[in-house]
Amino acid sequence: MTPPTPLSTLKTIFGYDAFRGTQEEIIGHLIDGGDALVLMPTGGGKSLCFQIPGLLREGTAVVISPLIALMQDQVEALKQNGVRAGGLNSALSQEAALEMEGAMVRGELDLVYVAPERLMTPRFQDILSRTPLSLFAIDEAHCVSQWGHDFRPEYMQLAILAERFPDVPRIALTATADPIVREEMAQRLHLTTAKRFVSSFDRPNIRYRVVVKNNPKKQLENFIEREHSDDSGIVYCLSRKKVEATATWLSERGYRALPYHAGLPPAVRATNQRRFITEDQVIIVATIAFGMGIDKPDVRFVAHLDLPKNLESYYQETGRAGRDGLPADAWMAYSLGDAVFLRQMLDTSEGDETFKRIQHQKLNAMLGFCEITGCRRQALLAYFGETHKSTCNNCDTCLEPVATWEGTTEAQKALSCVYRTGQRFGAGHLIEVLLGKRTDKVEGFGHDKVSTFGIGTDHSDKEWRSVYRQLVASGIVSVTPQTGGFYLNEKSMPVLKGQEQVRFRKDPTQPRGGKKSSARARTSRLMDEVCVAPGTRALWDALKSYRSETAKEAGVPPYLVFNDATLADLIEKMPLDDIELLAVSGIGQQKLSAYGDEILVIIDAHLKEIV
Ligand code: ADP
Ligand code: ZN
Repeated sequence: MTPPTPLSTLKTIFGYDAFRGTQEEIIGHLIDGGDALVLMPTGGGKSLCFQIPGLLREGTAVVISPLIALMQDQVEALKQNGVRAGGLNSALSQEAALEMEGAMVRGELDLVYVAPERLMTPRFQDILSRTPLSLFAIDEAHCVSQWGHDFRPEYMQLAILAERFPDVPRIALTATADPIVREEMAQRLHLTTAKRFVSSFDRPNIRYRVVVKNNPKKQLENFIEREHSDDSGIVYCLSRKKVEATATWLSERGYRALPYHAGLPPAVRATNQRRFITEDQVIIVATIAFGMGIDKPDVRFVAHLDLPKNLESYYQETGRAGRDGLPADAWMAYSLGDAVFLRQMLDTSEGDETFKRIQHQKLNAMLGFCEITGCRRQALLAYFGETHKSTCNNCDTCLEPVATWEGTTEAQKALSCVYRTGQRFGAGHLIEVLLGKRTDKVEGFGHDKVSTFGIGTDHSDKEWRSVYRQLVASGIVSVTPQTGGFYLNEKSMPVLKGQEQVRFRKDPTQPRGGKKSSARARTSRLMDEVCVAPGTRALWDALKSYRSETAKEAGVPPYLVFNDATLADLIEKMPLDDIELLAVSGIGQQKLSAYGDEILVIIDAHLKEIV
């Protein structure tokens, strides 16, 4: 028999036909004993980069992973593929841990996942010294950076591995796009001379969209109803209260929506997280407390009902959608209120001038992203240092180009109204003045006498909101931290004096509300794209319920039985025998013997049905 190669291992164990991007190069480099620093986006396929060398090199591969959930998920996925893998963490009983350590020393495991704090104990170091080692993999390596948001002090000690085990190759992996964090990683892990593999951070399967908020809950409901009523997704809100209210709202409308925030009892949080991972069609409504360590590959959408603080957070949060590479959505609703709120927050925050300046730049980039009229993906990637010449055709501005209008006069009216009313009111009052509304408040302040009273009747309330939103977003007007009132700044003057022109984006009109029906039609953008042939929706359902039942029996998440990519490929290829099953993405030897027969029965029944 010919010895296994990376490609044959990819095929027989993992069931995939070809390597992606830099995977093959990285695997070859490690097999040859080299060190590697891998920068690859979420969903890029980092795990295979160390798993395959771990299987092909002599000895046990030790994988350092910061979170038990991540660890268990990967170990379970490997076991499902028939790989000898184990996870050493605090969730394990002492006996089980002892047994696993024994298996390591005897060379019975190909991959062992460990938490960083355990790795550095004298006891484990002793075990390591007696175990034949194939490599060290440091996953989520950005946890070593004090600059990043996931700093883990235990990661600092991992540099010792280089000294103690100079002959064992090391690979550090991360999906972080921040260059400062990347440098710090290389330094602290003693990997400055390691070969670097940098992939594009583009996530082409994610469709970016930003809509202007008017009735956010309803807009969210419409979005889910039209595109994802059969899917799993995450909805992010800023406050706990809003998390609860949104989860309740969606539940009342028949969705399986569960809240998640730091104020819930730990048991409730754990249950909700587990249900999200192990059940189909669960929507988790969460604060940003949720996400780290969620490796669920089939999250079909991430929705934001509030604006993240910066594009780094936005990219990280939206990146949780579509790890499996299939079509997914990043949808966000955004308003004048969000822009005002974030500007206020920033001005009241602690920190020195440099810190504040950086935060301001980041917020400007975030708001600029919302108001952009060009391709959103190009702008996002440019922010992370990647130039992409062509537009993406998979973001809202590419799919429905945004019109702009010459708004210098309107900007001048809006700014001048800020000035005439004393630079202390917010948009609501200013718009009433512009529209010439004689409300108690307007008259009470004598603003029916100012020169800007009633000069804006050629535009609607909504249009003026859009004007003020864009002025706040671009910093042409400032926001008083305490009151939210607007005041002029150095950027307002050139506009007021007519030295600078202003163009506004024309807010697209919202699609009409969904039709009311008690029995909602199930929709999934993915399902709609995959199930084009007649009758295939029924097959989709049958395979999905087989997957759920099997997963339930085995006590694993459904995507570990087979994921959506496999589901889609099954429908596309309609395999009729074992050979054809093996050609399906994600089906290797182990899954063929575990599920093959039953899948064939389901497909057979389907074919009989349609002829
Ligand atoms: P990351 O850790 O970079 O976020 P994963 O290693 O979890 O990504 O991989 C994301 C998904 O892509 C997984 O479902 C994985 O099985 C799949 N995958 C990885 N490499 C390939 C490949 N060469 N062909 C097909 N699917 C792949
Ligand atoms: Zn685009």
